Amino acid sequence: MSVPGVSWAATTPPPRAEHRPPAGRATTFFMERIVALLPIYTYNHSVLRKKAKTLKRPDAGLVRAADDMLETMHKANGIGLAANQVGLLQRLIVVDMTGSEGVEAFEPLVMFNPAVVDEEGKWVLEEGCLSIPELRDEVERAERIRVTYRDRNFDERELEATGMLSRVILHEVDHLDGILFVDHLNLLKRKLHRGRLNKIDRGDLQVEYEVVPNQPKVIG
Ligand SMILES: [Zn+2]
Repeated sequence: MSVPGVSWAATTPPPRAEHRPPAGRATTFFMERIVALLPIYTYNHSVLRKKAKTLKRPDAGLVRAADDMLETMHKANGIGLAANQVGLLQRLIVVDMTGSEGVEAFEPLVMFNPAVVDEEGKWVLEEGCLSIPELRDEVERAERIRVTYRDRNFDERELEATGMLSRVILHEVDHLDGILFVDHLNLLKRKLHRGRLNKIDRGDLQVEYEVVPNQPKVIG
């Protein structure tokens, strides 16, 4: 999900066991691995329409993928990213609210197998998506959620979230089920956005990050 200009609040702080990949890690003495930037698949690539698979056990490769996703998301100024968006059909999302209005510090969340187990209330807010650049619209979602997931150590966790954090998690979990925020819009609004969506579909877009369009332009 791309950065909105609103504040958020979580009823419980994110667990402290999460670790943000330190900025500039690749250049420090304790260099472990260069974090890779991944291209982001854009509307309406088939990988965004598939259901991601549940993870059965911890996997070092997927933890690395989560760090790559965090780095990719930060570079693209996003606050949430789902594995489908980088072409990986596994149930994994990352969230970092830092930079969102009213949020000074946030421990990034790596969530394997996130499952929304409870929802309450409704509220409407404008959303954007790194896979649907330059298009924003209002979406109704639950105001408060309870979500279970496994952290980067594959330990079971539970989180209660409200407001913006709840919205970002719901947006990203939707991705894992092949659902995009534009799918929540009514027919009239989708008609209104059709031109823009068709352009993105053809790869006719200008963004600062690398993308994999559904129909890449053939040159020559
Ligand atoms: Zn999105």
